[in-house]
Amino acid sequence: MHWLVIAVGLAVVAAVLGYRLHRRREQARAYLKGVRSMISDDPDAAIEALSDAARLSSPEAIETYLALGDLFKREGDVHRAIRLHRNMLHRPGLPAGRRAEVERELADDHRRAGMLDEAAADYRRLLDAGDAAAASGLRDVLVDQGRFVDALEIQRENLPPEPRVLAHLLAALSRERRGQADGATAVALAEEAVQVDPDGPDGAMALSEALSASGDLPGGATALARALAVGPREALLAWPALAALPDAFALATLDGALAGRSGDARLLVLRGRRLAAAGRRAEGLAALREALAADPDGEVTLALRELLREAAPPVPGELVSRHELMVASLGRGESLLRCRRCGGGAAVRAWRCPRCGTFDAYEG
Ligand SMILES: [Zn+2]
Repeated sequence: MHWLVIAVGLAVVAAVLGYRLHRRREQARAYLKGVRSMISDDPDAAIEALSDAARLSSPEAIETYLALGDLFKREGDVHRAIRLHRNMLHRPGLPAGRRAEVERELADDHRRAGMLDEAAADYRRLLDAGDAAAASGLRDVLVDQGRFVDALEIQRENLPPEPRVLAHLLAALSRERRGQADGATAVALAEEAVQVDPDGPDGAMALSEALSASGDLPGGATALARALAVGPREALLAWPALAALPDAFALATLDGALAGRSGDARLLVLRGRRLAAAGRRAEGLAALREALAADPDGEVTLALRELLREAAPPVPGELVSRHELMVASLGRGESLLRCRRCGGGAAVRAWRCPRCGTFDAYEG
């Protein structure tokens, strides 16, 4: 009868909760933290009991449900969140004004559960019903699905202007077209990305990749130099562009960037990798060691750890220096990159948070 206790408790608390709307969710959360252990005893009973006892007629009860859904999601229990939100939508008493909010939660649940078709349909339905807040969710799911043309359409027609995001979408579509051997379109899309967001590095990196693939190596090197100049913090993401250039172009471009930012740890990582890829492994390891020593914020250390994990086995002569580098990178206790929106951690920088899909998710 645990669930009955929970139900009565939650109903009572739900009744006393709620002064100002912006405080309600926080209070419900705080309460739920208190009963967390009870809920984890039998969360399914808790969902059912809540549905019967609290009903949905009061704003406080709705806040309590939504906070419980948050709790499930935070604990990675997205299928329970789905069941909870579906229950909410199917119970009588949910005010029409709150319906869209619950439907957005369910769409987010579906996305997190990897049910992308369901999530896209949820968001599309909300958007068609006039819920402007669903547009960014739909765009993000379309990107998850690799439907960049559709994502671009939503970005342009349903969302306020966000040049940086628009440039990311154009860059992603450019890379897709390059992969399909449609070189001219890939270059044009990347040029457009640079044009809409001249200070963003992603467009310039995509342009470099597209030009190099089409045989315009000086153009590829120039675009890469631009990317490294406008996006020093995102420099590690320039590896595909750097790898696509022949050794001489790649190393000259890096030397040019390093001339402007001497000792920059991210540029040194790129240089170390590129030297190693060019067969100059001893010089490469030296550059990586230098990068590790110069790491200002821990990102380089994390990136090196990943690189060493994935690297080919060391050749006999470099066993000792490789081992030293590994020990040095492990010896530094660096925290993960943290998404500013969902708090999700990542060891290696990406354009989007792998958990919530936010672009440019990491501060600094
Ligand atoms: Zn995130």
